[in-house]
Amino acid sequence: MTTPAISIIPLPRSIEFDGNSRFELPCAPTITGGLPVSALACKQLSKDTGRQWQIADASAPATVLLTRIEETGLGREGYDLDVTDDGITIRASADAGLFYGIQTLGQLCFPNEEGALPHLRIKDSPRFTWRGMHLDVSRHFFNREFVRRYIDLLARHKLNVFHWHLTDDDGWRIELDCFPDLTERTAWRGKNEALPPSYDTGDERYGGYYSKREISDIIEYAAARNVMIVPEIDVPGHCKPVTVCYPELLCEGEISSFKSVQDVSENLLCAGRDETFAFLAEVIKEVAALFPSPYIHMGGDERPEGPWEQCPLCAHRIEAEGLENIDALQGYFMERVRTLVADQGKTMVGWNEITHGEKVDQSAIVTAWQDPEKGIEAARAGYSVIMAPAQHTYFDLAQRDDPSEPGLRWAGVVTLAKAYEWEPIPDPELAKRVLGIQGCLWSETLVDEARADYMAFPRLCALAEVAWTPAGRQSFLDFKERLVPAHMSRLDLAGVIEHGSV
Ligand SMILES: [Zn+2]
Repeated sequence: MTTPAISIIPLPRSIEFDGNSRFELPCAPTITGGLPVSALACKQLSKDTGRQWQIADASAPATVLLTRIEETGLGREGYDLDVTDDGITIRASADAGLFYGIQTLGQLCFPNEEGALPHLRIKDSPRFTWRGMHLDVSRHFFNREFVRRYIDLLARHKLNVFHWHLTDDDGWRIELDCFPDLTERTAWRGKNEALPPSYDTGDERYGGYYSKREISDIIEYAAARNVMIVPEIDVPGHCKPVTVCYPELLCEGEISSFKSVQDVSENLLCAGRDETFAFLAEVIKEVAALFPSPYIHMGGDERPEGPWEQCPLCAHRIEAEGLENIDALQGYFMERVRTLVADQGKTMVGWNEITHGEKVDQSAIVTAWQDPEKGIEAARAGYSVIMAPAQHTYFDLAQRDDPSEPGLRWAGVVTLAKAYEWEPIPDPELAKRVLGIQGCLWSETLVDEARADYMAFPRLCALAEVAWTPAGRQSFLDFKERLVPAHMSRLDLAGVIEHGSV
């Protein structure tokens, strides 16, 4: 399946070669116009191949014929791509499939020193519908140019979900009209700021946020590349900015000594106060209106122990609702949040702790992060699941054993092999409930853009192949041959600043 000219990542479902014939790429190749993807294709292929791609004149045959056909049997993201003496044809039933065909064509054209493509036929479609990558922009902030490039790189790897972790203890990054204080005050941290310094950003004012206009522009940029943005507003923990602006949403009692896993105090919203849910209703309403995605991620992870256990308001809630324990209170909280999301016509996604207390309706989707077993448990409990086990998909974890290697290690070292060699569906009976997989890039140690790239790549390339390519066609050895040097040179061309070693 691998030849020097064919190093496609993720590997397509099938590739057939037609002898030794080749199609010479003209100096100024043309592509069918009139489709939403045509202009983008022209721009990307020109950048990637060093040739001047142009929209074809209607009177002359195009080098690349893009065709929308009724039915390909490959789904809306599938495509087939033919290279013959007459040129290149990409057929798909939807723009998503055409876009992915163009990504594959881009990889056939670069690197390609001969400037000729072998005659071939590719039939391709994804294994999973949810192929995601996450980015934490709270611990460290990444500006809109970085976010765009990140989305572009996801799209080039045929990933279709960007999970945008917009809020956490170290900065609130999404502008909201209903609560402007959140960005005016707590998008920033430093010695004289509302939030204290954290993660080595020092006493200086550090931070930033995305205006609603910027977010809309990024949503549009992503949509043109078949990437859906799923925003995350993380509750009830990880809410330091909220409680700094609105301390009336904290639990009653002596709570300052209780700390989260990340050593942050007073970052948990009170489950006993109705004001908490009134606040969240406003936030969710505005977020739902801003993002066209049918999903909103509401966190639900790492609730610090202590505040709820000793709060009289939370105790009253437990009694009034007939809840068995604190886990049930957590379930109650997240189920109430789920209904707020549902009120806006959307589906809630949450980290696997939302299953605690068994209160959250099975229409919610679970991102299983702690280990594969959590995903299996959630699927058996009737939830649709996104498998994101830290041991294989947390790219903020170190990628080599070497102690000098940057990255966290709480779930071990995620080598390139570990990012590639795992099966997201451990039990065939659960296959229907596994929507797909996702990689996560938490930013505690991502001190700058170069470091973010270094942690993401090339592990993201491995994730993309696990998400896209049929399990029976995956081979780590073959993947590495396609990765080095061909695909690594594409990463360089796409602007990846640094990457990990293979
Ligand atoms: Zn409370």
